[in-house]
Amino acid sequence: MTAATTRRGIVIGGGIAGLVAARDLAVAGVPVVLLEAGDRLGGQVRRHSVGGIELDAGAEAFATRTSVVADLATELGLGPDIVAPEPAGAWLYSGDGRALPLPATSLLGVPASPFDAAVTRIVGRRAAIRAGLDALLPVRVGASSRTLGELVRRRMGASVVEKLVAPVAGGVHSTHPDELLLEQVAPGLLAALAAEGSLARAVRALRGSAIAGSAVAGIRGGIVRLVDELQADLERRGADIRLGARVDEVRADGVLVGGRLLSGVVVVAAPGLVAPAESRTTTLATLVLDSAELDSAPRGSGVLVARNSRVRARALTHQTAKWSWLAERAAGRHVVRLSYESASPDLRDVARTDAAELLGVGLSPGQVLDFATVEWARAVRRPPVPGVAQVGEAVAGTGLASVVAQARAQAAGLLGWLLGGPLRGPRGRGESAKPKSRSVVPGKENNTE
Ligand SMILES: Cc1cc2nc3c(=O)[nH]c(=O)nc-3n(C[C@H](O)[C@H](O)[C@H](O)COP(=O)(O)OP(=O)(O)OC[C@H]3O[C@@H](n4cnc5c(N)ncnc54)[C@H](O)[C@@H]3O)c2cc1C
Repeated sequence: MTAATTRRGIVIGGGIAGLVAARDLAVAGVPVVLLEAGDRLGGQVRRHSVGGIELDAGAEAFATRTSVVADLATELGLGPDIVAPEPAGAWLYSGDGRALPLPATSLLGVPASPFDAAVTRIVGRRAAIRAGLDALLPVRVGASSRTLGELVRRRMGASVVEKLVAPVAGGVHSTHPDELLLEQVAPGLLAALAAEGSLARAVRALRGSAIAGSAVAGIRGGIVRLVDELQADLERRGADIRLGARVDEVRADGVLVGGRLLSGVVVVAAPGLVAPAESRTTTLATLVLDSAELDSAPRGSGVLVARNSRVRARALTHQTAKWSWLAERAAGRHVVRLSYESASPDLRDVARTDAAELLGVGLSPGQVLDFATVEWARAVRRPPVPGVAQVGEAVAGTGLASVVAQARAQAAGLLGWLLGGPLRGPRGRGESAKPKSRSVVPGKENNTE
């Protein structure tokens, strides 16, 4: 479908959110300018090369709780390259220094079977019995919870929250379960509780027989291929992509970039531009290792670390055990990625010793074939500013599934407003025509540009 408008869409920020919003506008025939402050597109999705192996430097998977990212990848021709992680399962490194397999089926650490031996090993027998009470409690208990922590505490007890859900959900969202809103991180869980009668059965219903510790998929060659394809698609559609274009200010009639006013309908995909954005840092340390002991993937796809443990890393991913395409690329070497809350000059050694401890193997300095670190700032979610079309992590929450869904909904709403009258979504998905929040209304397009 092509838009009957000559109004220009100006998208600020070339991360996934901006790219997706820009593409949906362009698909509908809206002329698009994409302004990115940096020298490349993708934001937190980018590649790097460690030991000569090209791999994701940021996001490496997407949540499959909805099909939104898979749908996008399929539209971009990447459908055949969507891959499931290897069915190895994930582990937990407990506060008292034990490595324990995570329960076979869980949702953000909420177990589908409280009496599973893996749950008992992690939380202890008494806490497992308390968790089992979930099956007997009236369905109304916890039914009005706002956060994941509150729901699990009420249905299964505090130990399950702290020892199981906190490390697993924290590994995904870097936030304690008491701050994770159910509607955002586990939509459908309360409805499933009402339908199934217990939290464990609700998890079972939602997860089926999913793999331990993960409900994600990846893309052969890296998530970064989404950026490559979005950029190529935008270019094919004639979008005007400007790198090194930092927007200084959003105005009623457009945006100020490099002291010049660019007029059009604005979509803000850059955190911190229309409202102060708090951010938290994550440092990733990637090690390429020569270790036959790791061939058997002793900790499956990786290890989540309990808060009160002596290991500094928050999580470890054994990437070559998780993704077969990467194992092929690594040709016998192992790629391990650890995440930290802060950087330090001795990170190479810290990461090596943490990896040895978490994986339960010996790792000498000579076995580290290469090492790379990347520091990231991630926007903390805040309420949107009224009257401005905003997309991206700061308003949608972290993770590609949330970011892509919100960007597409905003683009569809904006298109409805731009074109007037009822509108089917850019892909004819019949999305609402009404903008959720309206962009700054463009003024007369007689300005400098
Ligand atoms: C280490 C790491 C691992 C992750 N792993 C996963 C994962 O496995 N799965 C998952 O789903 N999610 C993961 N995430 C989260 C996910 O990558 C992000 O939620 C998502 O990429 C955010 O996209 P965004 O477009 O909202 O923001 P960003 O990617 O931050 O993009 C914002 C863009 O705006 C630009 N910009 C900023 N200010 C201006 C300005 N004034 N003018 C013009 N441009 C500007 C920036 O340069 C940037 O390119 C991970 C994140 C990190 C850091």
